[in-house]
Amino acid sequence: MNNDEFRAWSRRAADWGADYRDTLRERPVRPALSPGAIFRSIEASPPETAEPMDRIFADFEAKIVPGMTHWQHPRFFAYFPANAAPVSVVAEYLVSAMAAQCMLWQTSPAATELETRTVDWMRQALGLPDEFSGVIQDSASSATLAAVLTMRERALDWQGNKQGLAGQARVRVYSSDQVHTSIDRAIWVAGIGEENLVRIPVAGRFRAMDTSALDAAIISDREAGMLPAGIIASVGGTSTGGTDDIAAVAAVAKRHGLYLHVDAAWAGSAMICPEYRHFWSGVEEADSVVFNPHKWLGAQFDCSIQFIRQPEDLVRTLAIKPEFLKTHGHDGIINYSEWTVPLGRRFRALKLWFLLRAHGLEGLRTMIRNHVTWSEGLAARLAREADFEIVTEPMLSLFSFRHRAGVDPDEHNLRLVNAINDDGRIYLTQTRVDGRVAIRFQAGQFEATAADVDAAFGVVTEIARGLA
Ligand SMILES: *Cc1c(COP(=O)(O)O)cnc(C)c1O
Repeated sequence: MNNDEFRAWSRRAADWGADYRDTLRERPVRPALSPGAIFRSIEASPPETAEPMDRIFADFEAKIVPGMTHWQHPRFFAYFPANAAPVSVVAEYLVSAMAAQCMLWQTSPAATELETRTVDWMRQALGLPDEFSGVIQDSASSATLAAVLTMRERALDWQGNKQGLAGQARVRVYSSDQVHTSIDRAIWVAGIGEENLVRIPVAGRFRAMDTSALDAAIISDREAGMLPAGIIASVGGTSTGGTDDIAAVAAVAKRHGLYLHVDAAWAGSAMICPEYRHFWSGVEEADSVVFNPHKWLGAQFDCSIQFIRQPEDLVRTLAIKPEFLKTHGHDGIINYSEWTVPLGRRFRALKLWFLLRAHGLEGLRTMIRNHVTWSEGLAARLAREADFEIVTEPMLSLFSFRHRAGVDPDEHNLRLVNAINDDGRIYLTQTRVDGRVAIRFQAGQFEATAADVDAAFGVVTEIARGLA
């Protein structure tokens, strides 16, 4: 492809993107497809000779687009959002055009320094104290892995990377049972082992860890000769928004000298609104905090920020060249690849910079407040229907509900969620609450309107009553 063709096809792609956004509401949110259909539609062998771009693009439109689940659809109410505000997509076009590998300051001075600046903008936007610095990771899973490795190394007096874990005291990490599966995987990958992730029971509306049980578990592990290393707390868990009392957990962490990592991957975005910060009060005591601007805020996937109180500990854990420690922060050079497990890094700060400037914090706060208000409104409306029950009350914009029907309500609600998703007008996912099926609803899509959330009421009640 020469540069003239590159220009023409880039324009075509940009036009396609805008047309796509224009027509999203006309598409089913999730395609009704049987597995393997797309795979079989793609040639089994790679082409030996060059094909014209027209044909490649036509196949993209014919074979790929109809097989996509549309995450930018305004009636995407499943999982958590993965918002890509149009302005962040524009930034990604530019990043893609420059295609820089941003592992070191010298391989990408602007990317590095813009990252330092935009992460600090986000720190201020979230109301975190200025002791925190941070880094943009690809995903919350990577940030949590980095935090777990740091707590492990700190507890092992920095000997784990060198000697391995065999022969060391058993490293123990504590969390509730409401945390995301990325915590389990971080524990596996860090070599700590699932059996050493101690699940503390939860209580109350927000399913918060019982901190006296936490305290007791740490004490009894120490007495048994084990090595408590850290605590992972949750603000806005994936299933139903489970949220720990961060101040109380931080007090336990402090008392025992343990590392505290807070996973606020989804809910962190809401902390740009001061009125929601009570959900994580005490967060200023954490050692690290992760939140995903690529979820609710609108910075196209991937963009996950890990705020860190003592980056020296993280760098000591992950940097291959420890001499970096000597210059850390003094010569103005940061090599962010020493803060992350992967060496290679994309330029992720540009989309955040574009997003924050184009919308302003006020614009983003309005979006988040709207989602919370609309979601609470929908929960209240469903609660007034005799055949529906609210299983978990809204935590920000997430709640869960159940249709009271069927001999086996679990089976009925699973059928309901499948029927809703095959219908395609909206998209929802299910979870289990105390062992029973509940249907999750979250409003959070960047371009959703009150009318889109209202539409969910009609679709859910119509399909539920049709099935019953
Ligand atoms: C989405 C989510 C994660 C995982 O995020 P990735 O960026 O996909 O790794 C972890 N924790 C919570 C609470 C989440 O909502």
